[in-house]
Amino acid sequence: MKRKLTENVRRVRDRMANACIRAQRDPKEVSLVAVTKYVGVDVIRQLLELGHQDIGEARVQEVGRRAAMIKEMRGRLEQSGAGAAFPEPRWHMVGHLQRNKVKQVLPWVSMIHSVDSLRLAEEISSQAERLGRDIDVLLQVNASGESQKFGVAVGAVGHLAEQMVSLPRMRVCGLMTMAPLSEDTGRVAWTFERLAEVFEDLAKERFTGREFRHLSMGMTNDFEIAIEKGATLVRIGSALFEGMVGAEE
Ligand SMILES: *Cc1c(COP(=O)(O)O)cnc(C)c1O
Repeated sequence: MKRKLTENVRRVRDRMANACIRAQRDPKEVSLVAVTKYVGVDVIRQLLELGHQDIGEARVQEVGRRAAMIKEMRGRLEQSGAGAAFPEPRWHMVGHLQRNKVKQVLPWVSMIHSVDSLRLAEEISSQAERLGRDIDVLLQVNASGESQKFGVAVGAVGHLAEQMVSLPRMRVCGLMTMAPLSEDTGRVAWTFERLAEVFEDLAKERFTGREFRHLSMGMTNDFEIAIEKGATLVRIGSALFEGMVGAEE
């Protein structure tokens, strides 16, 4: 199973690198967030052993449970004197987050990709204050304009971002979007391009600080297009775990 995973990771990395070449971008500008919702903690551990630190989860209950399990595994290895066999993960909350679940995930996550309202942002800020830590967040934008999607409307992003930067303990690091579920690559490309434009406008006018630097866009079906349009974080699940029978818990 680990051989298959190694092979999949290499293939995804190659595709990312080739997309960077086509777009004349430095591959170091684009990080892979491995979205592990389809697999169990053993596979997460293998990813960490392969040197991957950015792990994404879409469900609130899973983040805490899995992060605790991995932490315990590392602790045990350290205590046994063998030293940590794998690096500490950075957990990314990529799925929809409800206000009443913030308290549960905040102790574990490095970055939240899915902030789409001031009320949610306020709750994240106040829980971060309580824990005495900073939290990196991205604003989820409904760049495709589809009605069923989560995310702030394009026209409201600037205002929300501005309200958010004044909140304590909150680092507004960029924007996130999901492309429409569509075979039409032109539409997908247009959605990513639109997010990149919103990002550029904000970065030029109001968010000139260095921490505002991330565009989280692109998944298994569209990450190459996203990289060509400026993604700095791609969130990939299926392509990493393809053909791994029994990868589920
Ligand atoms: C599941 C998920 C992904 C990864 O999707 P794949 O198509 O399997 O690569 C990325 N982002 C979010 C928010 C997800 O829920």
